Amino acid sequence: MEGFLLNVKSTNISWHRALVDREMREKLLGQNGILIWFTGLSGSGKSTIASELEMRLYNMGRLTYLLDGDNVRHGLNSNLGFTKEDRIENIRRTAEVCKLFVDSGIITISTFISPFKDDRDKVRKLLGKDFVEVYVDCPLEVCESRDPKGIYKKARNGEIKDFTGVDSPYEVPDNPEIVVSTNLDTVQQCVNKILDFLSCKVQE
Ligand code: ADP
Repeated sequence: MEGFLLNVKSTNISWHRALVDREMREKLLGQNGILIWFTGLSGSGKSTIASELEMRLYNMGRLTYLLDGDNVRHGLNSNLGFTKEDRIENIRRTAEVCKLFVDSGIITISTFISPFKDDRDKVRKLLGKDFVEVYVDCPLEVCESRDPKGIYKKARNGEIKDFTGVDSPYEVPDNPEIVVSTNLDTVQQCVNKILDFLSCKVQE
């Protein structure tokens, strides 16, 4: 499995060690940095569950940051489209940003369709033990009937190309840490499942 370091153009650079390190920040915050990576079809419920999870963590006094797939495409990744190459770069940049957030001690939550196994495995490799993959499982027909952003309709009309589940594949994770099934369980049940998993990981 290859990592993200394929197209390295920076030379003559060295790593600067700061005086304040991750351990010190985590001690200050009373929590451990971690990345909760949501993956699943559009409309499966990634944003809904992630937002509710973040609110629950906030109410528990935890410092979090949510990186939303659409929002990141408004700024950092606004120059990327939806070709395979651009999707890979979208995930690579996002993963590097997530790594910085985790290093800052923050409970980092990301919601990206991230349809390709290979890309998700690269994120796993980059983050190591700090990576928690949450597969938001929901049948395509249900996602399409929800169509919260009206995009399946556009994809079926041919207005959007390379749309995951329609004319671009979604590769189901082989071994995610957590699976939530949003066509079977309520939002709160899904969030509880994730919080149960995290309870031992984010404590001081
Ligand atoms: P995604 O971020 O994966 O594209 P969204 O969270 O934007 O998906 O949309 C999911 C839609 O499905 C929302 O309209 C939400 O209210 C609805 N929904 C219904 N049941 C659930 C559930 N159990 N979990 C999450 N979302 C649900």
